[in-house]
Amino acid sequence: MNHACMSECYGRLMTSNANEKCEAFRICLCVLWRRAAEAEREEIMEITGKVNEVRKQVKEWRRQGLTVGLVPTMGYLHDGHKSLIVRAAAENDRVVVSDFVNPIQFGPNEDLATYPRDIEADKKLCEEAGAALIFHPEPEEMYAPDFSTYVEMQKVSEGLCGKTRPTHFRGVCTVVCKLFNIVSPDRAYFGQKDAQQMAVIRRMVRDLNMDVEIVGCPIIREADGLARSSRNTYLNEAQRKAALVLSRAVFCGEEMMKNGERDAGAILKAMREIIEAEPLAKTDYVEMVDADTIEPVTRAEGRVLTAMAVYIGKTRLIDNFIVEL
Ligand code: AMP
Repeated sequence: MNHACMSECYGRLMTSNANEKCEAFRICLCVLWRRAAEAEREEIMEITGKVNEVRKQVKEWRRQGLTVGLVPTMGYLHDGHKSLIVRAAAENDRVVVSDFVNPIQFGPNEDLATYPRDIEADKKLCEEAGAALIFHPEPEEMYAPDFSTYVEMQKVSEGLCGKTRPTHFRGVCTVVCKLFNIVSPDRAYFGQKDAQQMAVIRRMVRDLNMDVEIVGCPIIREADGLARSSRNTYLNEAQRKAALVLSRAVFCGEEMMKNGERDAGAILKAMREIIEAEPLAKTDYVEMVDADTIEPVTRAEGRVLTAMAVYIGKTRLIDNFIVEL
């Protein structure tokens, strides 16, 4: 029912006799009721595991002239993910959250089988944060048995996490490229928590002319400083305490830079000492790199990323900070 119909009903209401007035009034009520039902239906969050259903929904939104934001996740959602969804909901008419533990970004000895999952809790968080659709596919929906096309990147994906996880970013780029093709979002939201991932995605989008705006969001931390992560759930009590060396090292490095220190060696040494003082922690890397190219730097100049990966027991945690000088 459009504005013209409403006007006509109103006109009839004003000019008609009692019987006609009743009929016009009834029509008006029907129209209002249908509009309210439609509006309510639009607010209900949907969940699907099917690529063609996502496409159908997004096409319908496009037909209505609505903008679409995408938040790619592996589920087991927490406040870090929520901050991305809330921001996406503020900047787009509709938000799609993908909730998919992507098997091809895990190495052979990594935690694919044990990665935590809780779709019911995820649904609740997405609804609260303002998502309109969750895409929660089975691996078979995303990867045909003879799947054989990958997005591979040099350089940016080779340093930092790429050293110990050589196939990780190939898996990330491939799944994010697929999600962009499935959802065709206006904007996609990523956390700085995975700073190298963000650099890799930005580079992929630039190099392959993908028509999507990448929006970076700040790291959300627990009250005591630990960066929120789905993998924090692996930590026992002692390990949870030990894990604070990551954020303590981050805050120390940030403070040194704020106080004018520019020598990467001095900053990294102080950060490594904090981590090495913790018996339950084992450093994978602590490095300072250019935030866009992920090339190592010896001095903090320009946009620099100081990033680390640390094992607490068997759990590999990451943290970082970016400074623009
Ligand atoms: P994941 O489910 O771990 O693959 O993360 C999905 C997205 O959420 C990625 O863009 C992450 O960088 C982002 N994310 C995860 N943890 C945090 C956090 N603590 N703060 C901000 N963003 C986060």
